[in-house]
Amino acid sequence: MTIAYGLRDRYCGEVDETCVGMNISVCGWVSRIRDHGEHLVFLDLRDHTGQIQCVVDKNINIRSEYVLKISGFVSYRPEENYNDKIPTGRFELKDCEIEILNTAEALPFSLNSKANIDEALRLKYRFLDIRSERMQYNLRLRHNVIQAIRESMSSLDFLEVDTPLLWMPTPEGAREFLVPSRLQKGHFYSLPQSPQIAKQLLMVGGMDRYFQIAKCLRDEDLRADRQFEFTQLDLEASFVGQDQIIEIVSKVISDLFLKILSVSVGPIESISWIQAMLTYGTDKPDLRIPITITDLTALFTSTKVNALRGSSVQAMLLKNVASLGRAKLDEFVAIAKRLGGKGLLWLRVVNDEQGLNFDSPVSKFLEDDDRQAFLKGLDPNEGDLILVVSDEPLLACQILHAVKTYAISEFLIKEEVSKTDYRFLWVTDFPMFESVDENGNAVAAHHPFTMPNEDDLQLMDSNPLKVRSSAYDLVLNGWELGSGSVRIHKREIQEKVFNALGLTDQEAESKFGFMLNAFRYGAPPHAGFGLGIDRLIAIVANESSIREVIAFPKSQSGIDLMTMSPTMVDDRTVKELGLSVLDKDKSETK
Ligand code: ASP
Repeated sequence: MTIAYGLRDRYCGEVDETCVGMNISVCGWVSRIRDHGEHLVFLDLRDHTGQIQCVVDKNINIRSEYVLKISGFVSYRPEENYNDKIPTGRFELKDCEIEILNTAEALPFSLNSKANIDEALRLKYRFLDIRSERMQYNLRLRHNVIQAIRESMSSLDFLEVDTPLLWMPTPEGAREFLVPSRLQKGHFYSLPQSPQIAKQLLMVGGMDRYFQIAKCLRDEDLRADRQFEFTQLDLEASFVGQDQIIEIVSKVISDLFLKILSVSVGPIESISWIQAMLTYGTDKPDLRIPITITDLTALFTSTKVNALRGSSVQAMLLKNVASLGRAKLDEFVAIAKRLGGKGLLWLRVVNDEQGLNFDSPVSKFLEDDDRQAFLKGLDPNEGDLILVVSDEPLLACQILHAVKTYAISEFLIKEEVSKTDYRFLWVTDFPMFESVDENGNAVAAHHPFTMPNEDDLQLMDSNPLKVRSSAYDLVLNGWELGSGSVRIHKREIQEKVFNALGLTDQEAESKFGFMLNAFRYGAPPHAGFGLGIDRLIAIVANESSIREVIAFPKSQSGIDLMTMSPTMVDDRTVKELGLSVLDKDKSETK
C-alpha cells in the first residue's frame, strides 16, 4: 500500500489490464447500482479518477453515495458487456468484500443526471456538486492552469510574494470591503481590490520581479458574471516597460495554452485603443467575428442626404441579411437613440435595372454619387444589409458595435463562432482618464498609478481627456482578460495625477503619503499586469460562467447559498468592534 493510495491499492478509474487476476481494494462512492440476475448486482464505485464496476451480493444493504472500500478480483467483463466509453469499461471486480466506511442519505439531486440542475440547489449543496464529473474536471483544470502559470512565472525569474489582505484603500474604481478594527475602534482596514500598491512598493524594495496568484476583492454591483472576490495573476517587474510586460504575459499565455489545450497561440497582434474603437466600436473586440466598421466620411463630403451629413459617416456591412424584418431594423434605430445618437440608417442591397441599388428610407434622396460611395466603400453584394451612423466618430462606432452585439445575440452567425478558436489581442495606448465628473475632476481609466504618455503631459490640466496613458489590455474572444500599465515612479508626476483626479495635496498626503514617501528613495521604473484567472479558466473549460470554475462561488446576488453568508452577528460582537447597526430590518433582507 503506497502513501498515495491510503486505504486502497488503486484508484477506481485506473483499474486496467495490469490488475487482471489480482485482488485489489478500491475506495469511493456508490455511483449506480444495477440488477444483475438473481443474487447479484452491479455496483459502480466512483472516485475522482473515474469508476469501476463491481459485482456484489444483492442482499447487502447499500445505497447510492455510500462510501465503501471494496476488495475483489479484477477480471475481464464478458465481451458483450464491454463499455468502451469509459477507460475501465472492460473490467470488473468480482468476489467482492465490502466495507461500509460511511452511509449517505438520499442526495437532493442526482450526480448522474445530464439534465440541468437548478444552480441555486447546486450552490446550496456545493460539497455534493463538487463530486460531479463537471466540477471535478473544472477544479482539476483550475489546479493545472495555476500550476502551469506558477512554473512559467518562476522560470521567468518572478518570485511569489504574499501581500496583506488587511490593507488600506486602493483607488481602482470599485467600492471596497471594509473590515472594522477591534483594537482601533472607528478605524477600518480595506480588503484589497488588487495588490497594486503593495507590488509597486515591492519594486521600490528591489524585488525586481514579483508575482502572486492573488485574491482581489471588489464590492461591485454584481453583473452577470462577476464575483465579489476573484483570482488574478498579479505581476510587476522593474526596469521594464510595456513591450517587456507584453512579451512576458504573451509567453505565459502561449506556454499555458500549449500545455493545457495543445493549442498554439502564435504571435498576438496589438492595436491602439483608438484604432480598436474606430474599427470595432469597442476596446474588447471579438476577433472571431469578421465584421468591422468602415469610415466613409471622405466619400460623403458633398452628399445632400441629411442622414449622412453628421460629423462622420461610419458604416458596417452585414452579409446576407437584407431580408431582415422591419421590427429588427427599428430596434437598430432604437439602440442608436438609446446610446445618445441621432439615429441609424439602414440600406438593403438589391439588384434592379440600375444594377446594385439600395432599398432604404432615404432611397429617393440617394444620388448617383451616394450609390457609388457605398459600392466603393463597402463592396456589397445583393442581399447584404448596410448600417450607417453619421455622428461623432467614437459615438457612431459604439452604436454600430451595440447593434452588432444585438444582431449576434438575436440572429447572426452565432453558430459560426467557434468556442475553441482563441483570438487574443493586445489593446494599447488607452486614454489616461475616461471622463470628467461634475466637479471637473478627471476619472482614471485604469488606475491613478498609470504613467501618462510623456508627450501628453502638458495636456494634463488643459485637456485631460486627450491624455493617453501607458496602459494595455489583453483581450480574448471579446473578453477583457487582464490589464496593466507602466507605472508612475516619480513623485512629482504622481502628485500631478492625484491632483487631476481631484485630490488636494493634503488629501494625497494623508491617503498615499507612504507611497509618495517611497518615491523619494529611489523608486525604479516599473510596469506590471493583472490577469483574471477565473475567466481564463472558464474559457479554457468552455464554461460560460466563472462560477463553474470556482469551488465556492457566491450566487448572482452575492450570497453564499451554502453558508448563507453574509449573516447577522449578535449585538455584543458588533459593539466590541465599536459599531452599531442602524437598520436591523433592512439588514435582514437577503
Ligand atoms: N491592479 C490592476 C488591476 O487589478 C492590474 C495592474 O495594473 O497590474 O486591474
